[in-house]
This record gives sequence, structure tokens and C-alpha cells, in this order.
Amino acid sequence: MGRYRTLDDVEVSGQRVLVRADLNVPISAGSVDDDFRIRASLPTISRLREAGATVVVCSHLGRPQDREPEFRMNPVADRLAQIGGFPVRKLDGVVGDEVDAAVAAAGPGDVLLLENTRFEPGEKKNDAALAEGLASLADLFVLDAFGSAHRAHASTVGVDDYLPSVAGPLLVAEVEALGTLLTDPPHPFTVVLGGAKVSDKLGVITSLLPKVDMMLIGGGMCFTLLAAEGYEIGSSLVEEDRIDEVRDVLASQWGDRIRLPDDIVVADRFAADAQSEVVDRNAIPDDRLGLDIGPKTAGVFAAAIRGSGSVFWNGPMGVFEWERFRSGTEIVARALTDHPGFTVVGGGDSVAALRMLGLEGAVSHLSTGGGAGLEMLEGKALPGLVALERWSEGT
Ligand code: ADP
Ligand code: MG
Repeated sequence: MGRYRTLDDVEVSGQRVLVRADLNVPISAGSVDDDFRIRASLPTISRLREAGATVVVCSHLGRPQDREPEFRMNPVADRLAQIGGFPVRKLDGVVGDEVDAAVAAAGPGDVLLLENTRFEPGEKKNDAALAEGLASLADLFVLDAFGSAHRAHASTVGVDDYLPSVAGPLLVAEVEALGTLLTDPPHPFTVVLGGAKVSDKLGVITSLLPKVDMMLIGGGMCFTLLAAEGYEIGSSLVEEDRIDEVRDVLASQWGDRIRLPDDIVVADRFAADAQSEVVDRNAIPDDRLGLDIGPKTAGVFAAAIRGSGSVFWNGPMGVFEWERFRSGTEIVARALTDHPGFTVVGGGDSVAALRMLGLEGAVSHLSTGGGAGLEMLEGKALPGLVALERWSEGT
């Protein structure tokens, strides 16, 4: 991990501080569905506020094409104020005269939230004028958005060119937890992967395999691996164009560390109320699709997790959104959360599954970053962190 300065290295009292948080939360009908990322960012904002900084917070939200109203940050501001117990002044711009005036009028302890950074076309292009405009709002930049640290955007890396920049406490916690898995995981180190697509996770599979003791694979992605091993997978999810690549991974010197399901819960269609049954992986009927790992597999995976020194889990074992196909994910989640060792869970849907089961408090680290976490575990440098390192000279 590179070196970067943190909030412990700077004085923030009386300073204007721009915080790039990751407040990218699911919103429906104008209210926040899941406030996990807001809660995770709150300690950083509170700490700055209580230390006497003027806190200017920004984040992107979703994937707006233009400035569609449903991507405005207002519901986020409301929820932040509600759980934080302090007023949050929501601004209607990201940069510009009105924003300048509002920030100039604010004082120590005030919290302002800028509009969705992606409302500015310069955000994703890492446009210098936008970065400079954001930087002009503050005396110090705090990058706390781990979930966006793998993107070189104006509000994640651009601002660093114009302002002294430090890593926020949430970013530090994320990087330390994943860094432990990369450099010094207590063994046996087990990785549990699931979720929809193997193509999202092939990079992390190949880079982690040499480091792990075991890799347990379920979810939709396991069918591409089973197909590569020659099993008939019926009409289960498969990425045909990845089969050769997957076959190479399985045949590599580390391939025998991968454990695939022995039994599968299959359904007659992709629906919550589909007819379901458990079958052996040798016996998946042509007209059925696999929507969960079977009970035998769930037991094997749970036992492997219980016997591990550290575990990283990303991706549900089945279509956990539907009760009938939730049991594999639930059994794995319970094994993980009973576990006294070092456990890290990443990925939006995996974290959502844990929260749905009420188990989110029982892991060592719940990561707010899906893609960023996977990129870091692949050993890739995160642009956000690289940008911060320039400010670490002399510390
Ligand atoms: P995460 O967000 O934790 O990284 P992914 O986004 O990769 O996870 O995958 C989550 C999605 O995968 C869930 O919506 C889940 O319904 C789906 N999924 C899991 N197993 C299957 C399966 N067997 N067939 C189809 N979809 C699946
Ligand atoms: Mg997901």
C-alpha cells in the first residue's frame, strides 16, 4: 500500500474541508432505500464538524445522462441530516457562483452537500476546470470514497492537483482491511465468490488463486465453471465466451484450490415462485436453471469457512432476493458471521444480503466498495490512492 497522509496529520479547525464521500445509494420514489454508505461516511463528516471545520461534502449518485431530477442529492441530504442529527445544507450546484456564495457564508461546524458530481460533464472526464472549481471551495481535500477510488474522475483525483489532500478514515479502514488480505492474511485464507457474472470476477480469481488456500465458487458464475468442466448445466446462466479462459484457470497449477457446488437448487423458470428442486451437478435437467447452491454444498462451504483463518466473500450464492433461493447465501453468511477470524465482505449485493439477514454487524469489515475492492485485490493501483501519495512527501 502506498503512503498517504490522513486526518491525523492535519489541523482542520477553522478550515474549509472538501470531502469526497461515496454516497451513491439506491433511491426509489425520492427516498433512500439502503443508507449503508451514508452511515459508513457519517463518522468522517461528524469528526470534521466536531473539530471545527466547515465541511463541504460531495459524491456522485447513480448514472445520470443529463441532470435528471431523480439523480439529485436531496434525499441523501435528508437522510444524512436525519442520522447525523445535524443540519445539512443541500446546494443545487456542484460548482459556480451560488455554491461559492453558500460556502463563503458557512462557518465552522456547518455541513454542506453539493449536487451530484456527475451532473457536471467534466466529472468523468477528469476535467481540470471542474477540479479547480471544486478545489477553490476548500483549504483541504479529504478523499473518503473508497467505492470511487478506482475511478480517475475530477472529484476523486482531479482535485488533488489543486489542494493538499489526505485519506479519510473510511478510506483508510477499507484499504487496511483489504491490504491485510493481500499481504498478510491469517491462513487458511478462503475466498468465497458468487454473483451473476464470472466475467466481473475473472481478474480477481486469477490474481487471488496463488494466495488463497481455498476458493469456493457459487452463484450464477459457477455455471460457466461447471460448463468448462464438462457438466451439462441446463438453461443456467453461462458466459460461453469465457469458457476457454475459465478452463485455463481450472487447469492451472492452482486450479485444484477451486471448489464448485456438488448439488444445485434448480428451477423451471427465473421467477420467485418457480418450481424448485435439489439435483446433483451431474443431473441438471435440460429445461432447468440453477438458482442456488444445494444444501450439501452449503454445508461443505460453511465448514470450510469455519475452519479458515481469514475469509473474503463477494457475491451471493444464489438469487437471494427470492426466499426460495436464499438458503445457500444464508448458510454461508451465518458461517461467516459466527466466525471469530478475520472476515471481509464486499460487493453491493453481498452487503445487502447480510443486511437483509441482520448480520451486518458480525463481520470484521464490511466494504463499501464493490468494484474498487476487487481491483485492489487484483493488485491494481487505485488512481485515488496514487493521487494522494503525491501529498505524502516528507511524512
Ligand atoms: P455483488 O454486488 O455482491 O458483487 P453481483 O452483483 O456480482 O454481487 O451479483 C449479485 C446478483 O447475482 C444478485 O442479484 C443475484 O440474484 C444474482 N445471482 C446469484 N446467483 C444467481 C444465479 N444462479 N442465477 C442468476 N443470478 C444469480
Ligand atoms: Mg452487484
